[in-house]
Amino acid sequence: MLSLADIGQNRTWRMLLVISGLAIYALFCLGLARYGYLEVTGLGFTTLFGAWIIGFLLLMFADETRGRFDPGTLTFSKAMWLNLGVVVTAALVPHVLRLLLLVVPLLGLVYAALHLEQRSMLTVAGVTWVSYLVSAVLLVTLHSADPVFEGLVAIAFTCMLGAMTVLATEITALRVAFERRRDRLNEAMEQLAELAMRDELTGLFNRRYIMDVLARHKALADRGHLSFTLCYCDLDHFKRINDRYGHQVGDQALKDFARVAESVVRSVDFVARLGGEEFLLVLVGADEDTAVRVATRLCDRTRMLAMIPDAPDYRQTVSVGVAGFRPGERVEDVIQRADRALYEAKAGGRDRIVRGS
Ligand code: GH3
Ligand code: MG
Ligand code: MG
Repeated sequence: MLSLADIGQNRTWRMLLVISGLAIYALFCLGLARYGYLEVTGLGFTTLFGAWIIGFLLLMFADETRGRFDPGTLTFSKAMWLNLGVVVTAALVPHVLRLLLLVVPLLGLVYAALHLEQRSMLTVAGVTWVSYLVSAVLLVTLHSADPVFEGLVAIAFTCMLGAMTVLATEITALRVAFERRRDRLNEAMEQLAELAMRDELTGLFNRRYIMDVLARHKALADRGHLSFTLCYCDLDHFKRINDRYGHQVGDQALKDFARVAESVVRSVDFVARLGGEEFLLVLVGADEDTAVRVATRLCDRTRMLAMIPDAPDYRQTVSVGVAGFRPGERVEDVIQRADRALYEAKAGGRDRIVRGS
């Protein structure tokens, strides 16, 4: 079952709805002409009305191709065109029936309130009102309509338009408040998503996120797409830094190392902090030889870092276990091979790179 909201969201339905509305309006005006309430000849009316409808449809098609929620100038043109067209038609009806026609510009105002900035909406209201007053004066002067009757209709229309403008202002304010809140919510959600995937201290990806990345890349590699290689890194004798210089210095050293690790990989690779002083590089599309070259750069740059301000000669080193993903194996298996290689690097004297077997 189609709900009203579905109809509002669906392009074709929306267009059909507008076209039906226009058709009903046209039939109504034809009825007015048929019973002599319209002040123009059949041809004059058809030309005027045809131009109005075609103009509106053109504006609508142009607007639809730009995207519905783009509060562009075309939406403003549509609201103006709709209201002026109706006011001109109304001016041709020197009868109380005109009040019925004048309901349409009020709908035009609601449309403007839903799509336009408040200033544009107020412009539509102002232009509608002024053009109605001009048409009423023309009716009195050129068609010798009853000035008292026209005056009363003009007052009634002014009241209706005024009340509708107040309502439209509220709608616009509500809409703007809603849009602002939605933007803030989107921002907060983006921040939350970012927080959920980052390690708080270093800003690198965290363990949870990197496990997702590995699962995705395993799926790709199993299907014959880009494979990947891991560098499992562990800072050597890191406990000493904390013991000698304090936890804060240790934290800063972890951050410095994180920046170094980011600097040795390409933008398509991933660097994560698994916890403590353990890090994982995921080198996408790289084989073990390439990974060893990256790890060598990492070891060299880490050794060059003056990580401890109070002890510029202190040299931090890192040990790295390298393992390339083998299609079909589990993510845990490749991590375990890299971890075992890292253990061998530690056992072999640290500050070195070992390939997993
Ligand atoms: P190895 O060369 O064998 O890896 O020796 P290690 O001292 O680096 O290894 P161990 O696992 O014994 O100690 C790791 C130390 O890392 C222990 C802990 O004090 C420190 N550490 C872990 N997480 C943090 C952190 O968030 N901040 C700081 N400052 N230190 C941390
Ligand atoms: Mg460790
Ligand atoms: Mg360590």
